[in-house]
Amino acid sequence: MKLKHLLVLPVFTAMGCQPVQPGSYDSYEDYPVVEGQWEEMLYAPASTRFSLWAPTAEEVNLKLYADGQGGEPLRVLSMEAAEDGLWRVRADGDWKGRFYTFDVKVDGVWLGDTPGVWAKAVGVNGDRAAIIDLDDTDPEGWGQDTRPELNSFADIVIYEMHHRDFSIDSLSGVARRGKYLALAEEGTRSAQGQKTGIDHLKELGVTHVHILPSFDYSSVDETRLDQPQYNWGYDPKNYNAPEGSYSTDPYAPDVRIREFKQMVMALHKAGIRVVMDVVYNHTAVTEGSNFERTVPGYFYRQTPEGGFANASGCGNETASERAMMRKFMVESVKYWVNEYHIDGFRFDLMGIHDLATMRAIREELDKIDPTIYVYGEGWAAGAPQLPADSLAMKNNIGLLARIAAFSDEFRDSLRGPFGNDAQGAFLAGYAGHEAGIRFGIAGGVEHPQVNAGAGHQVPKFWALEPTQFISYVSCHDDLCLADRLKATLPDASPAVRKALHKLAETAVLTSQGVPFIFAGDELMRDKQGVHNSYNSPDEINAIRWELKKQNRDVFDYVRALIELRKAHPAFRLGDANLVREHLEFLSAEDDNVVAFRLNGQPAGDTWTDITVILNARDKATAVSLPEGDWQVVCRDGRIDPVQGLGTVAGGEVRVGARSAMILHR
Ligand code: CA
Repeated sequence: MKLKHLLVLPVFTAMGCQPVQPGSYDSYEDYPVVEGQWEEMLYAPASTRFSLWAPTAEEVNLKLYADGQGGEPLRVLSMEAAEDGLWRVRADGDWKGRFYTFDVKVDGVWLGDTPGVWAKAVGVNGDRAAIIDLDDTDPEGWGQDTRPELNSFADIVIYEMHHRDFSIDSLSGVARRGKYLALAEEGTRSAQGQKTGIDHLKELGVTHVHILPSFDYSSVDETRLDQPQYNWGYDPKNYNAPEGSYSTDPYAPDVRIREFKQMVMALHKAGIRVVMDVVYNHTAVTEGSNFERTVPGYFYRQTPEGGFANASGCGNETASERAMMRKFMVESVKYWVNEYHIDGFRFDLMGIHDLATMRAIREELDKIDPTIYVYGEGWAAGAPQLPADSLAMKNNIGLLARIAAFSDEFRDSLRGPFGNDAQGAFLAGYAGHEAGIRFGIAGGVEHPQVNAGAGHQVPKFWALEPTQFISYVSCHDDLCLADRLKATLPDASPAVRKALHKLAETAVLTSQGVPFIFAGDELMRDKQGVHNSYNSPDEINAIRWELKKQNRDVFDYVRALIELRKAHPAFRLGDANLVREHLEFLSAEDDNVVAFRLNGQPAGDTWTDITVILNARDKATAVSLPEGDWQVVCRDGRIDPVQGLGTVAGGEVRVGARSAMILHR
């Protein structure tokens, strides 16, 4: 490990605190740690205080600027070493509306301007931090904003969306297309008269909107928003300020903050919670990142050879196990909750983070509000530089109470394997994936019948509770569902693909795990076969709202599935023991059929005996049910959980090709 030297004489801090003896550190574990709040800028009309944690610095300058870009500094102030590796300075006078950067000298080299690691407001492209009073950014009514009620994680239905995908279509009827404010616009209609925007979300009935990265990321140039640009945003620059390209004015630091809050408030008013996609596992650049320009090496893991480790596949991997990186993540999520009223977090490549950090995050969020939901990708892009048993990987989810992970097993059993877009599975009519479907239906918890049949076996029941299991068939990554069905069944008719689309959504929304829908799948949106569309143009990524009219039956089907799930607690038992006791898989004679019964009684469901049959065959199947009068609510691609679709007697029940049947008595 590289040694860091400090050759500065003892100094007294500007605040008149204890004398400080900066030292040299043999390892990152020896670096001092900031106690209490980690603030880099505290504004007051009389003076603004700045502090930067830079324990290996020899000198630190603060530069004050008139604007967010360009021009010479108005002033350069030399900061003074203080306690805990901090450097401090005070700028007298009222600096509101101005901008600042730090410049840190380490080993004789000035590292270059950085807004610091904790900038809460930034100018265009996030190159300079801004001096603002956060209270000025609260929209009217913000003080009364409250989270929509949530009794249990089991009640959650997640909708994953990108701001631009969701509203950029010129037929969306939205005025602020591609912006935060698109989600605050009521009454929007497509050119065909269908509800769009937030009205669409209300109509669909989802409980949570998961917004793709909306912190300040680097790939979209905020100075040329008049030109077409697109990125998912998994390239973090400033973790604690909103992205500028989704605001109506990326130059005005307060605007993106205020508009983000307006979006959250509007969604809350609509009864919808907001999940942020967070990407603490890597930064967009390594050399030149805010971390590297502040405390070189510290925030990232190194390989044994001393280079930057790269489990993210993006050039670096952060070091959550180090005290100040852990503190950074914990305080950052708390900040988004407290300042922006965020209701949940989705951790990108969560498997890069260590278990202790994820536990600390859960613990701190619980202190604020235990209904805040946390889930993540339980994997990494490469092997992280920590022992496997200490990482927040899917197989360690049992060690992370009340944190969930995506189930790639359920996804792949439905649509086919990651890495081979043309290979199908259950939906494409291939036998042998029944165990993976049962695993998904049971929400990933140990269940005696999941591995009972022939074919592939599920290797590990990794969820201790079904609320730790995200059920999905597609997300922003890879092909979306419509494209995957096209790729795996190139000769199938549109009607067949539509039937399978509905069947897939039925599996996801009748799973005991937490259902997750990729925005636009409810309209059978496609991405023209592009699987890694992270920087594809709008033509690929935008939801085309004319689809809502065109595929209205798919939308109504998904909407009704959500309605069914909300009305019937048997589909969301929320407890592993209840799932084991009250979810029973029925034997099916044919391959490619999964059938199960739910006892609704213990959950207080008005439907005491529910049967769901998923038939992915290209022909009908028959399943034996007990004799009796069964009310059919879903059959042959139609669903009506309220009025029902008639009755059948028990005995042999026939289920049409590529369709689901749901009945109760
Ligand atoms: Ca940006």
